[in-house]
Amino acid sequence: MSIQERFTGILERKNAAAVRSGRSPEDVTLLAVTKTHGADEINQAIDAGATDIGENRVQELLEKYDKVKPVRWHLIGHLQTNKVKNIIDKVVMIHSVDSMRLAQEINKRAAAAGLVMDILIEINSAMEETKSGIAAEDVRELVTGIVNECPAVRVRGLMCIPPMAAEPEDARPYFRQAHDLFEQMKEWDLPEDRFCPDTLSMGMSGDFEVAIEEGSTIVRVGSSIFGPRNYR
Ligand SMILES: *Cc1c(COP(=O)(O)O)cnc(C)c1O
Repeated sequence: MSIQERFTGILERKNAAAVRSGRSPEDVTLLAVTKTHGADEINQAIDAGATDIGENRVQELLEKYDKVKPVRWHLIGHLQTNKVKNIIDKVVMIHSVDSMRLAQEINKRAAAAGLVMDILIEINSAMEETKSGIAAEDVRELVTGIVNECPAVRVRGLMCIPPMAAEPEDARPYFRQAHDLFEQMKEWDLPEDRFCPDTLSMGMSGDFEVAIEEGSTIVRVGSSIFGPRNYR
């Protein structure tokens, strides 16, 4: 199957899962995750209708940026503070903010570029040592700090990556926990121009339909669209 056919197939499954969970297809965005794949492959996905693509490393994003057709880029992987300046005017959203220090650097670079950067707070649902992200109970304190100190940053919601699992259903409790916190956030009384929790980024190739059923608004799908990855 071609990338176009696979993309279309995933898009249809994404839309069906949205409808099944009582929402409209456009309420859930399909983010095509392109790490390890080249500009040609990315352009094929764009030709098939991809509007949003995600990279998890700054260097890789920069290498492809000029070779890829106009599209909305997202940074979804761990971001080092010294690399923020390289992507600040290239991405529409940073999904992986997990510290005040990183938020402050994004704020500084966004202000210098004359823009406001949309971010998500990454939560580490199972508190796995190998993963980035913060504990769910620490989200409110971080968000409050960002809202108070970072006028060029707008907090849009949460991102989570559940532990690797054999079955998609194994991820459901983690998705549900993230969604509960996301719903609580909507009650927090913080200024709307800095805080509008409308984005819940969760679900990958193996479990995106479960994530949508649990309230995801952006699914990040890589290998089901582009095939297996060969890490260099
Ligand atoms: C690679 C990656 C994905 C996509 O994973 P697949 O299982 O290939 O769909 C999603 N989110 C993040 C943060 C990733 O690094």
